[in-house]
Amino acid sequence: MPLVSLRQVLDEASKGGYGVGAFNVNNMEQIQSIMEAARETKSPVIVQASRGARAYSQDRFLYHFMLAATEIYPEIPTVLHLDHGNSVATCKSAIDMGFTSVMMDGSLLEDGKTPSSFEYNVQVTREVVELAHAKGVTVEGEIGCLGGIEDGHGAGGDGLSHLTDPQQAVEFVKQTGLDALAIAIGTSHGAYKFSSKPTGETLKMARLIEIHKRLPNVHLVMHGSSSVPKDLQDIINQYGGRLRPTWGVPVEEIQLGIKNGVRKINVDTDNRLAITGAIRKVFVEKPEEFDPRSYMKPAREAMKKVVALRMTQFGQAGHAGDYSPIPLAVMAHHYADHAVTV
Ligand SMILES: [Zn+2]
Repeated sequence: MPLVSLRQVLDEASKGGYGVGAFNVNNMEQIQSIMEAARETKSPVIVQASRGARAYSQDRFLYHFMLAATEIYPEIPTVLHLDHGNSVATCKSAIDMGFTSVMMDGSLLEDGKTPSSFEYNVQVTREVVELAHAKGVTVEGEIGCLGGIEDGHGAGGDGLSHLTDPQQAVEFVKQTGLDALAIAIGTSHGAYKFSSKPTGETLKMARLIEIHKRLPNVHLVMHGSSSVPKDLQDIINQYGGRLRPTWGVPVEEIQLGIKNGVRKINVDTDNRLAITGAIRKVFVEKPEEFDPRSYMKPAREAMKKVVALRMTQFGQAGHAGDYSPIPLAVMAHHYADHAVTV
């Protein structure tokens, strides 16, 4: 089937009461890991690329790898999503290329670092909603800012300085007409999310539940939601790496989120850890090897395992067959019929 819209996948997930992992990619092997995991677990899937990934890969390569994925895995409903678009122009270039979903992160200014005003966020998000929906493409927005910095993008800090205000979230959805809402509840991008196992003081699940109560029909998105498992950290350190002790978002907290309106869960760090650990292991155990395939194959396998596990934990496993793809043109008609008036 062709690439499908994020909106269709999240609507289905909402009906089925499950979450869908959104996994970041920069290269062919990561795409293959995700698609193999999707086939093995029969999962719909969201593949996402950040601005950094688009620059690294020359995004036309990435786009064509994704078209190959739809040919090789025709049974898997697959979304191609832009992660953290920093401007209307960035979102437009992704839409023009064929992405079926974009995130306009207007919680930060175009520099990708400075927290913006509510008015600015509404204005740029609304603009992207208009141009995306005209083509049937989905829009994710963000209110509040995550902590940490990844790929040069982020407000920095510990994730608690710019939490989402529930009332502002309601206003934001009303004024923008977006499809999915990313919220800040204490998580951060990158590996160093929490310096000890998170508690209600550092990971604000109560706030998420409050936002869901006020916006029961809005698809919520959890960013920075790698679990940073100790076994993956240990493999890296065992084979010469130097990661400081760190904690991610426990899977059971994500599952609580899924019970409370979370439909998209962004995971990147766990896959990076799996790949790096597998490569380090080959380098240490077989120093005579110099064929890139000797370490890229185990790396691909290690990432596939993590992705398949998350797909099972998030509940998307077994749901690939529920979909008949809705063409973007039909989505566009649907949006036109239900246009948001401000
Ligand atoms: Zn993010």
